Amino acid sequence: MGFDELREFMVNTQLIPRGIRDERVLKAMRKVPRHLFVDESMQYKAYDDMALPICGGQTISQPYMVAIMTELLELKGDEKVLEVGTGSGYQAVILAELSREVYTIERIPPLVEKAEGRFRILGYKNIHTRIGDGTLGWTEKAPFDRIIITAATPEIPVPLLEQLSEGGIIVAPVGERLSQQLLKIRKTKGKVLKERHTPCVFVPLIGKYGWSEETDSS
Ligand code: SAM
Repeated sequence: MGFDELREFMVNTQLIPRGIRDERVLKAMRKVPRHLFVDESMQYKAYDDMALPICGGQTISQPYMVAIMTELLELKGDEKVLEVGTGSGYQAVILAELSREVYTIERIPPLVEKAEGRFRILGYKNIHTRIGDGTLGWTEKAPFDRIIITAATPEIPVPLLEQLSEGGIIVAPVGERLSQQLLKIRKTKGKVLKERHTPCVFVPLIGKYGWSEETDSS
């Protein structure tokens, strides 16, 4: 099978049977060439049902995890989105397909450089990158309609809650260092409503409001 067929197969066997229903999310997952977000030696595995290694000991998340986190964000097309954890840039591109502007922060500079190259080659002009500690958010560009944290966090960093607009949604893997659960938070009339979703395992969010660097054994 070629990459286009593998992508279609991925959607039909990994996403639809597990309950991903948002047609816009499925369309983006069918469109974005995931194999261009991993090293050439890994491309044959790009559409497998798993996370894959990228540089710096980090990972590009499993396709299903990208799809469910995106679906939970309830994107309609006009949102300003903050992503914490750019990694390969794949999730950022999925978000860019489904929203107005994407701001994405990554703490490892070579990952940002590679991701920026991919955004350029693929022609995405609505993705803005920053190197730094994403647990602090991006004050100058706040508030955000949606925030997605793509690394495991012990709790939602306070600055991110503050930078979420009224009616906004945050999706993040929250829990212990080695196992978490997807948490969806909606800010309504100053209150925070929480929903718990699927169990998951992400690399740690390292930063002021995440885990400390010393505990990072990945
Ligand atoms: N979204 C990525 C993708 O589509 O490839 C996958 C993200 S990977 C699972 C988690 C990323 O979060 C890693 O690249 C890691 O370096 C980054 N990260 C960890 N702590 C961070 C922090 N405080 N601020 C920004 N990025 C962070």
